[in-house]
Amino acid sequence: MQNKKRIAIFGSTGSIGTQALEVIRANQDLFEAEILTAQTNADLLIAQALEFKPNAVVIGDESLYKKVKEALAATGTKVFAGEKALEDVADFDTYDFMLAAIVGFAGLRPTLKAVEKGKAIGLANKETLVVAGDIVMQRAYEKRAPIIPVDSEHSAIFQCLVGEGRNKIDKIILTASGGPFLGKKPNFLVNVKRDHALQHPNWAMGAKITIDSATLMNKGLEMIEAKWLFNLEPEQVQVIVHPQSVIHSMVQFEDGSIKAQMGVPDMKLPIQYAMAFPNRIKNDFPRFDFRKYPNLGFEEADVKTFRNLALSTEALFKGGNMPCILNAANEIAVWAFLRNRIGFLDITAVVEKTMHHTTFIEKPSLEQYFETDGEARNFAASLMKL
Ligand code: NDP
Repeated sequence: MQNKKRIAIFGSTGSIGTQALEVIRANQDLFEAEILTAQTNADLLIAQALEFKPNAVVIGDESLYKKVKEALAATGTKVFAGEKALEDVADFDTYDFMLAAIVGFAGLRPTLKAVEKGKAIGLANKETLVVAGDIVMQRAYEKRAPIIPVDSEHSAIFQCLVGEGRNKIDKIILTASGGPFLGKKPNFLVNVKRDHALQHPNWAMGAKITIDSATLMNKGLEMIEAKWLFNLEPEQVQVIVHPQSVIHSMVQFEDGSIKAQMGVPDMKLPIQYAMAFPNRIKNDFPRFDFRKYPNLGFEEADVKTFRNLALSTEALFKGGNMPCILNAANEIAVWAFLRNRIGFLDITAVVEKTMHHTTFIEKPSLEQYFETDGEARNFAASLMKL
C-alpha cells in the first residue's frame, strides 16, 4: 500500500487550516495529520487533535498550554507552546508536507525552517514571500524544497505552467474580485465599518485577508508573491478585476497564447491540489456550470480609489525591504481597523506614511527584514497612537 503523506498544518484552526483538514478527512487513504498548530483557539485545536490524532500540536499562546496538555493527556499527542515551539516542530523529520497557513509575518520563521529542512511546502501564507521572497526562494532552490502555491490565483498560474517546461512567459494576469466595495468611491469608503468590510462577495476567509481584499491590499500582496514564486520582473505581473472570481488567473506566453484556470470559487481545490501535487484527486466539490455565468466581466482596477494597490505596485518595483515595510504597516493598520481604532481609509494613509518614513535597505539580510518589520510596526503604531 502507498504510504500516506504526513501533513503538518501550521494554522490548523484558521479558514485554510480547517478546509485542509476537510480534505484530509475525505482522503484518509492518502493523507494524515502529523502536526497541528493554533495561536489562541485551544478548544478547536483540542477537538482537531482528538479527531485526527497528530503526533504533535502547538498552541502559540503559552497561557493555554495547561488546558491543551490536560485535554490531550490520554492521547499520544505531544503538546508544545509558544512562538519558538513552532520553529521546533517545523524542524521535525516526521512530516512530509507543511501547509503554511498561519496568517501574517508570524508565518515566516516556521516556513523558513521547513525550507531549510528541504520539505515540500504548500504556501498559503503569502506574507512569507512578500516580506523576504528573495531569501526564501533562494534557500528553497538550494535546499530543493518545492513551494507549491495555495493562494487560488497562484495555484491557477502554477497549474497553467504545468507541462510548459522552459517556455517563456510574457506576463501573468492576476484576477481580482474587486471585493465588497467594487465601484465605490472615497466618499462612501470613509464611512465603512468593520462588519461591512468583513463581508466578501465570493470567498469566506479569515478576518485579515478579508479586509485586505476589501482594500485591494490582498491583490497587491499577491503581485509581490507572484513575482517571487514565478521568478518574474515587476512589469510582467498585471491585475484585472473579474468580479465573478471564476477565472482564478491567467498566463500569457511569448507566442500570445493565454492559458486560464477556472472553477467555482472554493479554496479546498487549490489546497487539495497542493497537497496531492503532481496528482489530481477525485472529489465531490461543486462543479462550474457555464450556463449559470453567461457573462464574465473584466475591468481595470480603480487604483485612484483603492490606493493600496498603487502602493503595493510601488513596493513591488522598488524592491529591497519596501514590501516588508508595506506588509508590516498593513498588518498593524488592519489589526487596528478590526478593533474599530481607525477608519477604512486610514489603513492606506498609515501604510503610505510608514513606507516613506522607514529606513530603506536595498539588499537586506534576514535579520534586517526582522528589524524592518519591527521599525515599520513601531512607526505605524505611533501614527495610530496604539
Ligand atoms: P485565519 O485568520 O482564518 O487563520 C489563521 C491561523 O493562524 C489560525 O490557525 C490562527 O490560530 C493562526 N495564527 C494567528 N496568529 C498567529 C500567530 N501570531 N502565530 C501563530 N499562529 C497564528 O487566516 P486564513 O486561514 O484566512 O489565512 C491564512 C493565510 O492564508 C494568510 O496568510 C492568508 O493571506 C492566506 N490565504 C487565505 C485564503 C483564505 O481563503 N482564507 C486564501 C488565500 C490565501 P487561532 O485560530 O488560534 O487564532
